[in-house]
Amino acid sequence: MPELPEVETARRGIEPHLVGKKIKAIDVRNGNLRWPVPVDAFNLLIGEKITSVERRGKYIKLLSKSGYMLIHLGMSGSLRILTEFQPPAKHDHIDLIMSNGTILRFNDPRRFGSWLFQAEPNSEHSLLVNLGPEPLENGFEARYLYNCSRKKTQSIKTFIMDSHVVVGVGNIYASESLFKSGIHPKKPAGKISLARYALLVDAIKAILQKAVDQGGTTLRDFTDSEGKPGYFKQQLMVYGREKEQCYVCHSMIKNIKLGQRSTFYCQECQK
Ligand SMILES: [Zn+2]
Repeated sequence: MPELPEVETARRGIEPHLVGKKIKAIDVRNGNLRWPVPVDAFNLLIGEKITSVERRGKYIKLLSKSGYMLIHLGMSGSLRILTEFQPPAKHDHIDLIMSNGTILRFNDPRRFGSWLFQAEPNSEHSLLVNLGPEPLENGFEARYLYNCSRKKTQSIKTFIMDSHVVVGVGNIYASESLFKSGIHPKKPAGKISLARYALLVDAIKAILQKAVDQGGTTLRDFTDSEGKPGYFKQQLMVYGREKEQCYVCHSMIKNIKLGQRSTFYCQECQK
């Protein structure tokens, strides 16, 4: 599943090809995504110039003065830029065609992705209204997490994966940042001190920033915005390492389910 760093990588990849360009046509070959693609609304954008390409959580916004397209990659979606037309392959569901011939092509085998429309460029789509802060921005800090976790009995791992608390901390990054900060994933969020939240916030920021800098992480099938598959795999300390030795203390990495998600940790390093 594309996580925040992959989405940011996609945003950075497509941005220079789209900003300042006019939308010539939108070809929706299969609009049956997670929600039906609003083709009529998108047609209102034909002739408009894309003014910016932004990201909020795992959503990408293609803004124009009349509104924005809101794209989510879902489980298996990817975006690529074509500089000239190529016949669409299976699962290439949408082409956004610019007046200079550049095409933004959306591929999504599982069709859990979405392309939605919001009429006012400065208004928040309903899916964005209740999102927590961006993890790499200044509003995400220890005091904030500490305050919103008081009296919460849920595990710290499910707490930091809740997009109302903070966006973009997916399963891999939650496991990795809890390891880095030495916090047991099952520990109740409300029982964690401010000092330990400071370590956790630093860990989340460091791990996500590193992944963004590397251009995404671990997905075998991830394709970047220019269609080049594969990035260097970020070294993962615990995720996917069940029954292997902890790199720090050499005890065996465990894997438990928390909120139906695989959760990897070291019982010696994480308390
Ligand atoms: Zn360990």
